[in-house]
Amino acid sequence: MSDVKLDDVVSLSKRRGFVFQASEIYGGLSGFYDYGPLGVELVNNIKKEWWDAMVRERDNIFGVDGAIVQNPKLWEASGHVAGFTDPLVDCKNCGARHRADHLAGTDSTNLDELKGMLKGKKCPTCGKTDLTEPRTYNMMMKTWVGPVEDDNSVAYLRPETAGSIFTNYQNVRETMRAKLPFGIAQIGKAFRNEISPRDFIFRVRELEQMEMQYFIRPETQDEVYEQWRQFAWKFLTERMGIDEKNISWHEHGDDERAHYAKAAHDIYFKFPFGDKELWGTHNRTDFDLGSHQKVSGKDLQYFDPESRERFTPYVIESSVGVGRMFLAVLADAYQEEEINGDTRIVLKLSPKLAPYKVAVSPLLKNKPELVEKAREVYKMLKSEFGNVMYDDNGNIGKRYRRQDEIGTPYCVTIDFDTLEDNTVTLRDRDTTEQQRVKIDEILLKLEIY
Ligand code: ATP
Repeated sequence: MSDVKLDDVVSLSKRRGFVFQASEIYGGLSGFYDYGPLGVELVNNIKKEWWDAMVRERDNIFGVDGAIVQNPKLWEASGHVAGFTDPLVDCKNCGARHRADHLAGTDSTNLDELKGMLKGKKCPTCGKTDLTEPRTYNMMMKTWVGPVEDDNSVAYLRPETAGSIFTNYQNVRETMRAKLPFGIAQIGKAFRNEISPRDFIFRVRELEQMEMQYFIRPETQDEVYEQWRQFAWKFLTERMGIDEKNISWHEHGDDERAHYAKAAHDIYFKFPFGDKELWGTHNRTDFDLGSHQKVSGKDLQYFDPESRERFTPYVIESSVGVGRMFLAVLADAYQEEEINGDTRIVLKLSPKLAPYKVAVSPLLKNKPELVEKAREVYKMLKSEFGNVMYDDNGNIGKRYRRQDEIGTPYCVTIDFDTLEDNTVTLRDRDTTEQQRVKIDEILLKLEIY
């Protein structure tokens, strides 16, 4: 649901063990979050869907899992050392630091333009009109490799996963005997020293990305670009269960697009704080391989055995953040409904993504014969689905509400009739309908995969 409030999602996330502040007992750390027991299940389910769709269900996309710290020359070649910057202004009165482009309400990062737009603007923190001129600031996180902390040992935590995809282009091509077109996919952590992390897990300093670079012949760029745009849209609606009403296309204007990118389309999601970028598809041309070739001195050209041509492949990139996907999935699934005069919160998650698939309860937890039967059914379902919850806390109504809140698609209740006729109550999360089902027919009734 798009009109969900961010506070509701944040509070549910904390209350039910989806997301916690990192190092919460020490007051947290801005821009860092931990996923809790339910959150990590949802994260893993999202990543599995993406990996299946991107790698396992295809025969020409290969996975890698690169190191977070790479040779710093990689980031010189990619342009991140010189250009991975955000425009900033400081407030001379209160010292607060703000993103100049956000404050000016523009996508432009041109300092001269921003200077004009920011004339007379107030500091959002203290309200004074006393801002510095915009300047740029590098967002890469630095570290030192080895015992000596000097300029020669500086390295960076990767700001995106794409870097080690490009540096492994030849390795993958050779080992997998790949011919164009082919792709390399990677899921992994990336770090950006964002100046103002905000909106819960939307803009963080430690993020996880799912990226795929598709290497192609230059003349196929328009057609392939279109395919990957459509892939992203379909993945969101069909595999993440996101409502089409909540997503839209945003084409990058000339002032927004990286200098090497020929085309860039983002899918925006209707987040509770506005329509914002979720997933980018970019035509990066031959910039990356060309640049790595220049800086490394290694030949990264492709030789086509049929046409006997030698050229630098173009790259179409598909890139999405796991955390942003997580937030979009939660916001999309979150609903408050009136049922018999009562309000329930329900996460209408796609069953594939739900952290728990089924919850099993004995009607009463102090009746050993019910508990024994419930444990039996629990064991049977757990061996089938893995993530099944045994829940005997509170009354049955409360248990259903609790499972609704975490998006469990089905609840199974064992009562005294079960002992007589081997049937259970099967409750559906979305319709709240209940039906009597024979124990050995439960599996047939569950639509999980
Ligand atoms: P933005 O304009 O929002 O800063 P970006 O254009 O810099 O994002 P890309 O470099 O294209 O983002 O990164 C690819 C994807 O990684 C984004 O579409 C987004 O889903 C995710 N992402 C980027 N930065 C962050 C961040 N700071 N926190 C969470 N996710 C992020």
